Amino acid sequence: MNSSDLFAQARVMIPGGVSSPVRAIKPYPFYTASAQGSTLVTVDGQQLTDCCCAYGPLILGHAHPAIKKAIGEQLDRGWLYGTPVPHEPEFARLIIGDHPGMDMVRFVSSGSEATMAAIRLARGFTQKKDIVKVEGGFHGAHDGVLVQAGSGATTLGIPDSAGVLADLVAHTRQVPYNDPEALESLLAKDPDVAAMIIEPVLGNIGPVIPDKNYLQEIRSITRAHDVLLIFDEVITGYRLGIGGAQVKYGVTPDLTTLGKIIGGGLPIGAFLGRREIMELVAPSGPVYQAGTFSGNPLSLAAGIATVQWLHAHRNVYDELDKKTRAIEEGCSGNARGSFVRLGSMFKYFFRPAPPRNYQEVKECDTAAFQRFWTKMLAAGIFIPPSQFETNFVSAAHSDADIEKIIMAYRSCR
Ligand SMILES: *Cc1c(COP(=O)(O)O)cnc(C)c1O
Repeated sequence: MNSSDLFAQARVMIPGGVSSPVRAIKPYPFYTASAQGSTLVTVDGQQLTDCCCAYGPLILGHAHPAIKKAIGEQLDRGWLYGTPVPHEPEFARLIIGDHPGMDMVRFVSSGSEATMAAIRLARGFTQKKDIVKVEGGFHGAHDGVLVQAGSGATTLGIPDSAGVLADLVAHTRQVPYNDPEALESLLAKDPDVAAMIIEPVLGNIGPVIPDKNYLQEIRSITRAHDVLLIFDEVITGYRLGIGGAQVKYGVTPDLTTLGKIIGGGLPIGAFLGRREIMELVAPSGPVYQAGTFSGNPLSLAAGIATVQWLHAHRNVYDELDKKTRAIEEGCSGNARGSFVRLGSMFKYFFRPAPPRNYQEVKECDTAAFQRFWTKMLAAGIFIPPSQFETNFVSAAHSDADIEKIIMAYRSCR
């Protein structure tokens, strides 16, 4: 069956025909039959070079042999026990070792779960109510963080979804990215802030890159106000290097959330933090958190294989950087748009200057992006179908792939 027929069936039974909104490409999304390395094969027989990489997890590309082997070995032993597994202390040691200042970790099944638990934990630890997020920052699809970005810096949050209580998001404050003064003035006025949660590099509207010293400044401002700092590194963790943005920029948060890459392509999330905070998590403390699939051996086996591979091939980050820089140099900005890159995260924004925050990202010409996206797909390149999503390069992208991407960028934009 072809993509058009599959979607016609799906839309009757599944809202919008998809299991996650960004996938609802018009007039219908392509359905994937298989994937290997840097390439997706659609049910319609098209081969696509993948610059979406499942929105971030697939840093080693599709069906990487080391991960496949780890999953296969685990499958032979069963894949869900409802008991502790040896993988937990093994993976905990690896992840904690890669994040200086983080002493303990709890494994969950998605990034959304990780941020939800981290926020609850911050409130439990500080005994304070409010949280601060950054406009345009995405932390998953749960109530407290689904706040329309773009409302004024200190106004109360407005829910971004029907069904989210205004009372609840009234406890979510927002500040613009790259604006330490806005944070300082908000915290000076609101003594009831438990935590600030931030993607250190905005990935879900980006990449939008931190100004020099921005992360250092928010670290000292939050510390001065006794506000916990949560780095949501679900995208940047193991993407910007081992240790993610916190190691790259040398800023230690109080809590960290991870996901995506640490599952090797299987569902996962994790939150990490200082011992005195993490010890409040149940059953060692009063902040409740639980999950049937948490710490499941299949995701942990895939995640351990991925992180071990990254440890054994540390030069992969230089190689990713080189490949993505080649794309940047091959299609640098022009009058219509700007090319932004950090490591293997990149994007062409339909805005002449690189955006520094959400307000500026919103100025992008999304109609031009849509035309560009369609042409890219016809040229055999799959980039995320939104001007607001980051594009990725994986270790599986060959020089020929990079050349193909550059040619397509040049001719399509
Ligand atoms: C993807 C993402 C999440 C949500 O993770 P899920 O596994 O999709 O629930 C949270 N925060 C950031 C920064 C993300 O990129």
